[in-house]
Amino acid sequence: MPKSVFATLAQRMMVLIVTKKEFAKYLARDGHCYHCGIADETLVPQHRRNRGMGGSQSRSEPSNVVVVCSMVNGLFEASETASRAAQKYGWKLRAGQEPESTPVFDAWDGKWYLFDNKFGKREVPPVGGN
Ligand SMILES: [Zn+2]
Repeated sequence: MPKSVFATLAQRMMVLIVTKKEFAKYLARDGHCYHCGIADETLVPQHRRNRGMGGSQSRSEPSNVVVVCSMVNGLFEASETASRAAQKYGWKLRAGQEPESTPVFDAWDGKWYLFDNKFGKREVPPVGGN
């Protein structure tokens, strides 16, 4: 029925929203684009887990969001190739990967981090295998 369809859509819209207040916390945690290191007004929150990969409730959990510039964000969203390359660095997640347990690479300082769901992060050993 249409009613339930709308309810589902509304819920999806809700979890996609990152408020300005929340984004300020992401900026405080990440500080710059994890891909190129730029720190200007083009920074946006990027969801690491793609829609349709399950766990829709976790989409807006802090561990599922990484700050990148809008140029890179657009590239990841538009290009399957770029998105797959991003999986190597944890900027995007593969099916079955959990944001809280999958390290993400900060290309600017060259370190790997694990995000928690309280806007915190801790450095972890480099992910091998390049
Ligand atoms: Zn960037």
